[in-house]
Amino acid sequence: MRLVLLGGPGAGKGTQSKILSEHFKVAHISTGDILRKHMEDKTEIGVEIRDIMDAGDLVADDLVTGLLKARVKEDDCKNGFVLDGYPRTLVQAEILTDVVGEVDKIVFINLADDYVIQRMSGRFSCPNCGAMFHIINNPPKRVGICDNCGTALIQREDDRARTVENRLKVYHELTTPIIDYFRERGCLAEVSGVGEISDITAAITAVLS
Ligand code: AMP
Repeated sequence: MRLVLLGGPGAGKGTQSKILSEHFKVAHISTGDILRKHMEDKTEIGVEIRDIMDAGDLVADDLVTGLLKARVKEDDCKNGFVLDGYPRTLVQAEILTDVVGEVDKIVFINLADDYVIQRMSGRFSCPNCGAMFHIINNPPKRVGICDNCGTALIQREDDRARTVENRLKVYHELTTPIIDYFRERGCLAEVSGVGEISDITAAITAVLS
């Protein structure tokens, strides 16, 4: 299974990608995670992209594409992958199959901006194990503490309200055109991003079968 998930910030791509990659026993590739790891490790790339990422802007096409090319060559991608966060610009859409090979399905998770703002500004994650929580939709058992490992939860810098607005602006300007690009080529399936996590997973698996 080689699946690409598209959708705006906060549409649930990350959550669904993790669930689907476990379900299909394939790799989960998140370009956002790859870039955040560089920032955490303070690599040369990490230092270069910090301000861009924190502002909610997009990292250069060449840089992300190079990292993705290397990632898909890793062993765990042999049986396939769920790709989350790429393509994000028309340039990336046009070179998608050159970079990752043919894909089985491109699924667009559609969620209106009002939902996105409510969702993202309540999102917290664990800096230790990566678990995600939400103050309304998926609260941790103890306020501010990870259920899995007891670490204090943090809010991603780019999930803060002002940045969320910029990420939506960037998404509408640069990423929305790629939805039309794939739709016009008849290779896009669309599901609603509203509802329970399990309902959205079911909607995605339905369009895959
Ligand atoms: P995400 O975790 O997918 O929401 O991505 C977080 C941030 O990483 C984005 O706001 C961008 O700054 C950067 N990023 C992730 N994927 C890409 C991409 N395909 N092209 C450019 N920037 C990206």
